[in-house]
Parts: sequence; C-alpha cells; structure tokens
Amino acid sequence: MSTQTQNRRIGIHLSTTGGVDKAVAHAPEIGANTLQIFSASPRMWRASKISPAQGEQTRTARAAHNVGPLVIHTSYLVNVCSQSDEVRQKSIVAFRGEIERALALGAEYLVLHPGSYRGMTREQGLYLAAESIARAIDGLPWQGTPFHILIENTAGAEFSLGGSFEQVAEQIERLRAHAPVAACLDTCHTHVAGYDLVSESGYAETLRQIEQTVGTKHVRVWHCNDAKAERGSKLDRHEHIGEGKIGLEPFRRLLHNPEFAHCAFIAETPVDAPGDEERDVRALLALAE
Ligand SMILES: [Zn+2]
Ligand SMILES: [Zn+2]
Repeated sequence: MSTQTQNRRIGIHLSTTGGVDKAVAHAPEIGANTLQIFSASPRMWRASKISPAQGEQTRTARAAHNVGPLVIHTSYLVNVCSQSDEVRQKSIVAFRGEIERALALGAEYLVLHPGSYRGMTREQGLYLAAESIARAIDGLPWQGTPFHILIENTAGAEFSLGGSFEQVAEQIERLRAHAPVAACLDTCHTHVAGYDLVSESGYAETLRQIEQTVGTKHVRVWHCNDAKAERGSKLDRHEHIGEGKIGLEPFRRLLHNPEFAHCAFIAETPVDAPGDEERDVRALLALAE
C-alpha cells in the first residue's frame, strides 16, 4: 500500500449473532479494521440493554484486534420526523435506546436516516427531526466520548429528509447546539439522488458541493455501496463494489482523497453467497493501494 492510504479504515456491516465482540473479532479475518453493526433487531421496537460485561468484552476485543471506529446503524423503524405523534414518541424512545447502547459499547458513530416528513412541509420535518434527536440525547453522558450521531444522506425519495447534501448540512446545523453530530455519506444514495460520482469532472463537482454544504471534515463515514440503479433514479439498491453503475474508479478516488483520510469506509453490500463480505472488503482494500 502507498504510505498515504495504509491507515485507511475499511470494513463492512457485520451480523452480531454470537455477540458484538465476536463480530469485532471476525472483522480482521475478512481484512476489515472497522465495522458497522445493528445493536438490536433493526425491525423491532423492543431492544434489550447492553450489559457492562458486554461493553467490556467489546472494548477488549477492539483493543486486541485494533478494530475501529465502531459504527452502529439505527433501526429502520425510527422516524424522528413522523407526523404521527405516536410514531414520533416511539422513535424518540427507541433512538434514546440506540444512543444508550452505542455509549455502552463505546461506539464512535450512530448512523441515522433523518426520516420521512410525509404529510407535512420539509421545514416542519426538519424542525421535528432536530427536536426529537435533541430530546433523545438529553441528559445522556456523551460528553468526553468520541460519540457522534451521523446524519446519512438518502436516495432522495419523496418526503425523505436528507436527499441532498444541503439537507444533511441543514440538519447538522440545527442539531449542533444540542448533540454531537456529523455526516455519513452513502455512495449509492449519492448516485441515485442524482449526483455524479462516475465521470471525473462530475466527481470533482460533487466533491465541491460536499465541501460547500456538509464540509469534508464533517464526513466521518462513507458507506461504500455500488448501485444497481441509474444515477437520479432515486432507487436505493446496493450492489457489490465495482459491479454496479458506479464502478471501481469512484471508490478508488474516495479512498485516495486526503480530505477523507479521517473517514471510515464501510460497505453495506448484499450478502448473496458465503464469502461476499470478504470479497467486498478485499475489493476496497485493493482500491486503497
Ligand atoms: Zn448507507
Ligand atoms: Zn441504502
């Protein structure tokens, strides 16, 4: 590897069947030095707490294997800007649980899709999302930890907040006074939302837009997913690295960009067959060389 990129943090979303510490220990076996997990079932409202022993086992495994950052993806059910009071209240409670588990596990990042504001204006959605997130974290002991909530850009479907870099930046701006916030950008979402990562000039323009909105230093995680769908299609279908409409080159550019040297690069690609996780991690590792 070249000297500039040898410290790149590269990993993939892994299952925690058997425990978070087992997932951490598994990461280096497939070439990863960082990983993303769910800290509970992503399709259930109820979740159990992380015990101090589980937290300790995770910290020990991370130290032993030099794995980090630890990224947690929020449950798909959480919608912090729902127009339904009931869903929003449940989302605030569930998101607070996500933060508690992230802190108990010593995770650096908790990725959140900013939600759907169907039935309201975007302005109301932005307001509710910020208010809900601020309430969810209120009083929790995040100060002095590296913990950050990462607002993820979305595929740009109707009524979804975060379909543009401006919206991600706006969300971060509103939350800055209440919570530690930064951004997670997803290559597939960026592509299908309409940004050009593929052509060299388009990539440069997309980077310029990131710099002028979110700011490259606020991007902490790149979700590295190739896209099954066309640019601008707003269809969120992840594909293996190099096998979709994005192709290998944009990933190479991102991995070599010194502006993103501080980022974790994490695939969320499909697992269709045994070995797929390792294949995508190795593909990113090869591109970082
Ligand atoms: Zn993603
Ligand atoms: Zn996606």
